[in-house]
Amino acid sequence: MPGSSRLAISLPNLPNLRQRSSLLRPTTLSRQQALLYALDALRNVLLLLFVLRYTRKSLLQLRGHGLFGTLKGAYKSIYRNLYALFLRLPFVNARIRADVSKAILELETKLVPSGPGVLSYTTLPTMGWSVEQVRSELGKLGEMKHTRWEDGRVSGAVYHGGDELAELHAQAFKQFGVSNPIHPDVFPGVRKMEAEVVAMTLALFHAPTIEDGKAEGGGAGVTTSGGTESILMAVLAARQKAYHERNVREPEIILPETAHTAFRKAGEYFGIQVHLVPCPAANNYRVHIASVRRLINSNTILLVGSAPNFPHGIVDDISALSRLALKHKLPLHVDCCLGSFIIPFLEKAGYPAPDFDFRVPGVTSISVDTHKYGFAPKGNSVVLYRSKALRRYQYYVCPDWSGGVYASPSMAGSRPGALIAGCWASLMRMGEDGYLDTCLKIVGARQRIEDAIRGSEKLCRSLSVIGKPLVSVIAFQANENAEQAERVDIYDVADGMSAKGWHLNALQDPAAMHVAVTMPIVGVVEELIADLEAVVAQCRGKASEKKGDAAALYGVAGALPDKRIVRELAGGFLDTLYKTW
Ligand SMILES: *Cc1c(COP(=O)(O)O)cnc(C)c1O
Repeated sequence: MPGSSRLAISLPNLPNLRQRSSLLRPTTLSRQQALLYALDALRNVLLLLFVLRYTRKSLLQLRGHGLFGTLKGAYKSIYRNLYALFLRLPFVNARIRADVSKAILELETKLVPSGPGVLSYTTLPTMGWSVEQVRSELGKLGEMKHTRWEDGRVSGAVYHGGDELAELHAQAFKQFGVSNPIHPDVFPGVRKMEAEVVAMTLALFHAPTIEDGKAEGGGAGVTTSGGTESILMAVLAARQKAYHERNVREPEIILPETAHTAFRKAGEYFGIQVHLVPCPAANNYRVHIASVRRLINSNTILLVGSAPNFPHGIVDDISALSRLALKHKLPLHVDCCLGSFIIPFLEKAGYPAPDFDFRVPGVTSISVDTHKYGFAPKGNSVVLYRSKALRRYQYYVCPDWSGGVYASPSMAGSRPGALIAGCWASLMRMGEDGYLDTCLKIVGARQRIEDAIRGSEKLCRSLSVIGKPLVSVIAFQANENAEQAERVDIYDVADGMSAKGWHLNALQDPAAMHVAVTMPIVGVVEELIADLEAVVAQCRGKASEKKGDAAALYGVAGALPDKRIVRELAGGFLDTLYKTW
């Protein structure tokens, strides 16, 4: 940063300034002169700062992305802007509006039931319904036509731990329905359960204990409403830490491009620049460590790895990230939202187990979704920190509110104690043996699907598995080396599976699809493989024909340089969520 010595650059202007000043009366001369001198100097310093700042930014950009990457980025950005201009041409724009409206209307007809016999309630009933009436309507709502998760047809989404557990949740809700952990004196049982959920999760992920004497006060954590909030909190804590300890005012995070979108959301919410790092096939779809290293600079507040990521179920090289984090004294967050209560049991279950938890020395925070493979009711997650000092950075405290001194650990104010009770009940009922058993079943089922895709005559020549999945997700794409007659469009396969009642996930960049195995899927794995074989047989050699839903969305979206239309469509989708008829 420029010190006072840099004021010297304003010297050439001085004679001029003196001349002007000499016209003034002697008494004011020195003051005026000093003022003009100071203003001039200030202007030059500001100019210098401006130039330095942009030179520094350009150099960092060059170092971070390389010459080729920078040029490619510039080319893409020009292309995108030109394309955006093209989209704004009146006749193009009108056409797009019409297409978007049509697509949204189709979505509405699919998602919002209408027609005779469908009543929608948009104002309060004048007279409250009878209990019976409400019960019966709730029953109907639960029975509305839907994709059958109950029959194991849905990838991820429903992390069901069985009917018995569901009964326990219902009991917990009943007992703790009114409870709110914001009042620990009123609901001491909820406070106790929350602390225990955090403690059990810390132990499972090998957080340092006070006895270790390494981290100040040992590991710490809080419960949140879900994986997204856990991630938002970890990023916020890293931002606050960097601000308070290093005065970082233009924070940046470095993400594997496959990391969950919640990190990008955190970037938008908290004003943090996000750098995406490729996860190339040549690196088995793990984050490219050398690229992460190049992007680190004095504004970096956090490194991130997934264990595993959502798209491909791949675990990043956490040890390599840890070495980088330690070398540059940076926090490292490991996203175990999906890995949750499966990844800690891989080793005991006898499966290959990657490094992922606090035993890796550079790992400073971990997000764990108890509402995924912890089988807690939805609305539960935990964010863990290596030390209590780190956790402090996510707290919100308002000492001077007229409503009283206010302190809350995370985003929410009031929180549902019932969900914490449900989570606690799940953890206690499942226990180590329960989670070990579900780990064996779920990872076993993922392995079975993987073996089929890699080995079955009917699948292996048309499909290929992405990377080396270790946990519950298996992703696959069209085999690029397939003979013409065996080539498939992966989105046709996705549509074909939808037509057979499966709800699997379509992915983009690269075009692919995945299955996140859950307990309901474990029982129907052979059916899934058989249907996949049938669909692949149908799709073979037809890779260029008319496209279905998934292909239409991702095929087109992937090729668009400007994602405005996708944003428009997605916004329309969100609007339909709040349509009553
Ligand atoms: C599910 C998931 C999250 C968080 O998602 P929520 O829907 O907010 O619970 C984060 N990371 C990964 C890898 C996930 O699969």
